[in-house]
Amino acid sequence: SNWEEVIPEFEGMGLKESLLSGIFTHGFSKPSPIQQRGIRPIVLGRDMIAQAQSGTGKTATFTIGVLERLDESLKATQVLILAPTRELALQSEKVVRDIGGSMDLSCHVCIGGTSSQEDMRILQSGVQVVVGTPGRVLDMINRGALRTEAIKSFVLDEADEMLSQGFTEQIYTIFQSVPAEVQVLLLSATMPDDVLQITDKFMRDPVKILVRKDELTLDGIQQFFVPMDDESWKLDVLLDLYKNLIVSKAVIFCNTKRKVEWLSEQLQGLEFAVSCVHSEMDQQARNDIMNEFRRGATRVLIGTDLIARGIDVQQVSLVINYDLPKEKETYLHRIGRSGRFGRKGIALNFVVGPRDEGNLAEISQFYKTEIKPMPEDIASY
Ligand code: ADP
Ligand code: MG
Repeated sequence: SNWEEVIPEFEGMGLKESLLSGIFTHGFSKPSPIQQRGIRPIVLGRDMIAQAQSGTGKTATFTIGVLERLDESLKATQVLILAPTRELALQSEKVVRDIGGSMDLSCHVCIGGTSSQEDMRILQSGVQVVVGTPGRVLDMINRGALRTEAIKSFVLDEADEMLSQGFTEQIYTIFQSVPAEVQVLLLSATMPDDVLQITDKFMRDPVKILVRKDELTLDGIQQFFVPMDDESWKLDVLLDLYKNLIVSKAVIFCNTKRKVEWLSEQLQGLEFAVSCVHSEMDQQARNDIMNEFRRGATRVLIGTDLIARGIDVQQVSLVINYDLPKEKETYLHRIGRSGRFGRKGIALNFVVGPRDEGNLAEISQFYKTEIKPMPEDIASY
């Protein structure tokens, strides 16, 4: 069923005072369109499939909804939020802590690469909101450290990714261990048909908020391509662009960990202050790098698709696809690292030969969006 009610103010959503206060303290004054439509049905306990363009406030949509339903006097896990990467889980946990800052709330992030013993100790004290990645969360459930019987909201952020190959089995196992009457919330900027089709199996009459695929790209992000004849030109093209283009923060995507390392070594060798992140680095290094980038200590981050989804760094105004992504969905998520919450952004695609050209043309047709040749005066954009 579709949900039509639009509530233009946070005050009209029937939220408790402490939660409203947390929302305003967090710096939000007016709900975004997805928040105007999505929060209320969550508060009412409905299942929901919520699709909205990247950077439009899906995190606060589910966070506000589930925190309203939380029983603060019950010291047991009531909310389980799953994300595909540790970085995203850490980021979302911070949002929960912030927005829930005026509530009597306990929250814990449960991700791999950290001490299991420490996780077990904290979880056994009855943490109300758990944000985590599937592997560690399942491990904690199996060890009996994460008790699931009081869970009433189960959130899959980046749901299409979570329900795709590689995660599904863990997700279903976790799902089987939570109470049958749990509220299920799925959120993502992309909801391919095959994912929508399987949701019938585990959701009850969900409210569906969907976006047509020709409305998914953000107007604030201008997309360009830079054609070249050979892979070996990419580095030179990047160096040419570098000084002019990187004014605030930029994310550069490569398709492999090795390439990410190689490119960052090349740039560091030329005294450019770049950092890189991928899943084979140890978690402390990953955290340090993300924190430095958020703080602005580094302004260029080179990464794999580890950081393609969900990561919210408001000052990112440029995304470079040094390698074109393999999936159409990934394209949308990558470029959506810029243009957060109505800000402007530029996406640059490096295109080598007819195969890349064909793939990019397909992406542009699929989303009915314009990807233009990069203009000479790009620096003035
Ligand atoms: P999404 O998950 O939809 O990609 P996020 O939840 O990460 O987007 O939010 C993107 C950015 O917008 C974040 O920096 C967040 O703080 C900001 N934001 C979300 N909702 C509001 C709001 N109502 N008012 C102002 N800023 C908001
Ligand atoms: Mg998000």
